[in-house]
Amino acid sequence: MSSRNIRLSRSIVGKLESEAVSNVIEQSGYLGMGDEVRLFEAEIAEYLGVEPWMVTCVSTGTAALHLALECSLPADSEVLIPSLTFVASFQAALQANLKPIACDVNLDTGLLDLADAQQRITPNTGAVMPVHYASNPALCEYIYDFAKRHELRVIEDAAHAFGCSFNGKKIGAFGDIVCFSFDGIKNITSGEGGAIVTSDREVARLVKDARLLSVENDTEKRFQGKRSWDPDVKRRGWRYHMSNIMAAIGRTQLRRLDGEFAPARREMANLYRKRLAQVPGVELLKMDMQNIIPHIHPVRILGGKLKPLTGMLEQAGIPTGSHYKPNHQLTLFGGGKQHLPVSEQLIGELLTLPLHPGLKMEDIEFICATLIEALGKLK
Ligand SMILES: *Cc1c(COP(=O)(O)O)cnc(C)c1O
Repeated sequence: MSSRNIRLSRSIVGKLESEAVSNVIEQSGYLGMGDEVRLFEAEIAEYLGVEPWMVTCVSTGTAALHLALECSLPADSEVLIPSLTFVASFQAALQANLKPIACDVNLDTGLLDLADAQQRITPNTGAVMPVHYASNPALCEYIYDFAKRHELRVIEDAAHAFGCSFNGKKIGAFGDIVCFSFDGIKNITSGEGGAIVTSDREVARLVKDARLLSVENDTEKRFQGKRSWDPDVKRRGWRYHMSNIMAAIGRTQLRRLDGEFAPARREMANLYRKRLAQVPGVELLKMDMQNIIPHIHPVRILGGKLKPLTGMLEQAGIPTGSHYKPNHQLTLFGGGKQHLPVSEQLIGELLTLPLHPGLKMEDIEFICATLIEALGKLK
């Protein structure tokens, strides 16, 4: 065992975040949804280059996806989702009374395969939900044409992609509805948390209400420190709002993103790519690293060596991940009755390597050297 204590992922929080939380507790004393949340939304908007009303913070990334779907689609619509995603994407569709349709992905990128998705379109298809897998926003080039051609809404699962850009614009600064996650290990965290970003005024209004039990205009009241005593409620709603405590952590993390977290994540992912590019039996996912802040860094291990290699790395004190067991293989979503060959191949190859700003460059060197040596032994 190495004494390096390498972790696959972790929250990078400390004194600044704890001071921000203390301030909320000791100065305002109001822990629920108030000024901190209003400011976090405004600061996210400024960071993305959108207007403040376009951003709605909620309790988790899953809640963001649920409300985005709930407030933009009629019940029972079908939603095209890549099978290779966190189960949150599929559960969100069920929560919104919609039908998740598992689609296959591209072998080179792990991104939604639009040719496969197209075959699954029916008169009931209401939306496509691309996942920016491993923070790669490359699908933005095609997804909006695809959606326009088939008259679908686009709900981007951008849980991996906060801070990433496409064609010079931040993810969230363009498009239909974009959902972020701020859970503990994402590019920034608010403890738990998420955000919906949309330029659709009606969807923005509905999600702002829906996070507060669909009590009409309760968001505005709370931001003025008031409550709604004579409200109307016309739709289903949830207790999905973000708290001031969470927003205080999130605001601090946002300030650390560009100067601290983004360069560290990029430098580490680039070093992985440099060291592993020419290694026989390892295939890197294709992506333009220029404009991304990598949340995870999966690589493909070819030749049926994933399992033994994973074991050898674990022996050497290197934890690895598997993102993700395809959803169509989960009992709730068909238990493997459906066959999606590329997703199934990929999950037998994908190895997620440790990546977070708490690692040192020498840890990455150690991981690469150990991986290369172990693969050599598996010949
Ligand atoms: C993290 C994640 C989510 C859900 O976010 P939570 O904040 O954990 O609820 C959804 N989709 C993907 C791809 C994720 O990685």
